[in-house]
Amino acid sequence: MSESGGTYDLVVLGGGSGGYAAALRAAELGMSVALIEKDKLGGTCLHYGCIPTKALLHSAEVADAAKESETFGVKASFEGIDMAAVHKYKDKVVSGLYRGLTGLLKSRKITTVEGEGRLTAADEVTVDGAVYKGRNIVLATGSKPKTLGLDIDGEKVITSDQALKLDRVPKSVVVLGGGVIGVEFASVWRSYGAEVTIVEALPHLVPIEEESSSKLLERAFRKRGIKYELGTPFESVKTTDSGVNVTLKGGKTLDAEVLLVAIGRGPVSEGLGYEEAGVRLERGFVQVDENLHTGVGNVYAVGDLIPTLQLAHVGYAEGIFVAEHIAGLNPPAIDYDGVPRVTYCEPEVASVGITSATAKERGYEIVEMNYPLGGNGKSQILQTQGAVKVIAQKDGPVLGVHMVGSRVGELVAEGQLIYNWEALPSEVAQLIHPHPTQSEALGEAHLALAGKPLHVHD
Ligand SMILES: Cc1cc2nc3c(=O)[nH]c(=O)nc-3n(C[C@H](O)[C@H](O)[C@H](O)COP(=O)(O)OP(=O)(O)OC[C@H]3O[C@@H](n4cnc5c(N)ncnc54)[C@H](O)[C@@H]3O)c2cc1C
Repeated sequence: MSESGGTYDLVVLGGGSGGYAAALRAAELGMSVALIEKDKLGGTCLHYGCIPTKALLHSAEVADAAKESETFGVKASFEGIDMAAVHKYKDKVVSGLYRGLTGLLKSRKITTVEGEGRLTAADEVTVDGAVYKGRNIVLATGSKPKTLGLDIDGEKVITSDQALKLDRVPKSVVVLGGGVIGVEFASVWRSYGAEVTIVEALPHLVPIEEESSSKLLERAFRKRGIKYELGTPFESVKTTDSGVNVTLKGGKTLDAEVLLVAIGRGPVSEGLGYEEAGVRLERGFVQVDENLHTGVGNVYAVGDLIPTLQLAHVGYAEGIFVAEHIAGLNPPAIDYDGVPRVTYCEPEVASVGITSATAKERGYEIVEMNYPLGGNGKSQILQTQGAVKVIAQKDGPVLGVHMVGSRVGELVAEGQLIYNWEALPSEVAQLIHPHPTQSEALGEAHLALAGKPLHVHD
């Protein structure tokens, strides 16, 4: 016989970015909420994704600063990486944030349930025999690494989950996949001293970005000694005594100590009762309408489980959206083009809005301005190369901002306001940017688009 876990205004299955954001906002709006999590509250982003990887990237930045100190007239030397100490620093950041999150959920009086849940009807989730009834349900079970059917042994063939915990710096790595996760790990390991080769089936690294951004990243990676095979599909991998032997289509082979499989993430939706309850899946992703409703009862879905951008801030936005929708606040639909995207390798790649190729596909007549960071004082102080590219509709608003360079991830917040407020280049050109900052590059690109270039050669 099943016991009762209680009845709630909202039952959330999965306590990652999407699920906990829905829970927090719903509680704030006065709903009773149960949040069910089988692993750790905070999900992929906090424990296996955004936060730990960015800690590794920060260590990598410190290593680079030590190696390049002479450029800035500082006498220091790079003695190597102490992985145990890197993990200690990374884990301290994660555990501090985890404590903060669990405290926050408690303070909003959210019932947190530890265990693996299953959707057993359109209004209930069952965990270890206890039934949690929900007037509304949010599915937020997230994603897991795709593996191409490869045997992930956790030692020689690994995914990002094991890469985050590796107790040594491998001498050499083949990174399968030149998307966000692949290039971020490639960047970390190169800074730590590894030989790195990225294998990407598409013609460019970070292939969903503006092509000029991909090319700038490729140039910067080449200078850093990161190798890549582009437009070259992977064929197979054999483990050897010393590591792996990777074969590419066409016959080329690569030897390395480790193969990182970073070819994307697929939804966690199998065996959870979704289809039995009538929820429609495509390639495992839960299908939803513009209100993130599954079409079944009051069941919604958010985050990596649905086929939208797999980003933590998208999960937060979708979680908040659903809570507000359930509360009858009629929130505006999410504009996914307006979501900023950042790849935190060195140099960083950041963008918001659409690419020039998409703009053309959508029939826009466009104008573009590519402002190299070579003309930007602060970027020269930092000794970083890259560019800010702005795409605008001819005689119309800005359609896309695309940037490459150290720290440009922080700049995309301004690009986001420009894009989402549909600013005209001439309006942005009126705004005075502080000197010397990298934000001036954005200002200068808009000045040029508005027909009054300052530090731009004719
Ligand atoms: C290496 C890496 C780096 C990343 N870096 C960034 C970044 O810098 N910026 C960014 O925006 N995004 C980043 N992401 C993506 C980001 O982590 C995800 O988009 C985000 O975590 C998705 O949130 P979610 O709530 O949909 O899913 P998840 O965070 O995956 O949460 C789902 C939760 O559901 C739980 N769950 C699953 N099934 C059940 C069940 N049956 N019962 C109970 N609980 C269950 C899981 O344990 C998990 O905690 C990164 C991802 C990775 C892997």
